[in-house]
Amino acid sequence: MKYSAIKYKDIANGEGVRNVLFVSGCTHHCKGCFQPQTWDFNYGDDWDESIEKEFIDACEPSYIEGVTFLGGEPMEEVNQKGLLPLARELKKRYPQKTIWCYTGYTLEKDLLDEKGKAHFDTTAEFLSLIDILVDGEFELDKKDITLQFRGSSNQRILEKNESGEWGPWSKKMK
Ligand code: SF4
Repeated sequence: MKYSAIKYKDIANGEGVRNVLFVSGCTHHCKGCFQPQTWDFNYGDDWDESIEKEFIDACEPSYIEGVTFLGGEPMEEVNQKGLLPLARELKKRYPQKTIWCYTGYTLEKDLLDEKGKAHFDTTAEFLSLIDILVDGEFELDKKDITLQFRGSSNQRILEKNESGEWGPWSKKMK
């Protein structure tokens, strides 16, 4: 897995102060995408043990509410494989912190359905470690800069409850 950027102590991509990882590779190619350079799966640097340790350690302070996975597309097969061990380790070390993940795929059709475009061996476990999923492609004609944590109005902020079921984010304001 490659990644294009890390933003530590970010406040724009999820609730509270978060460490944000932008992975490389995306097959959606949405019109109006704000970072088309990240469509390339070879863009950026290798995600290796050293940077993974640095990222996990940087989540230790109590003011860090959690992490956010962005892209590119975190749910592409290679990125699910790369992010799963990271998500496992984060939940082991910081069970109280939350994991947000953005995806251009839709939860029911592409991720949960066994025939879905982004349903792989890794998907069920990866989803089980994610607390908040922001799903759906960016649609330029539905762009709305007033939306909280989303670019277009078709996108949803979904929250997993204790039973593992997904529903609308309980704290969503707009
Ligand atoms: S899913 Fe995200 S990164 Fe991929 S093309 Fe759409 S807006 Fe760009």
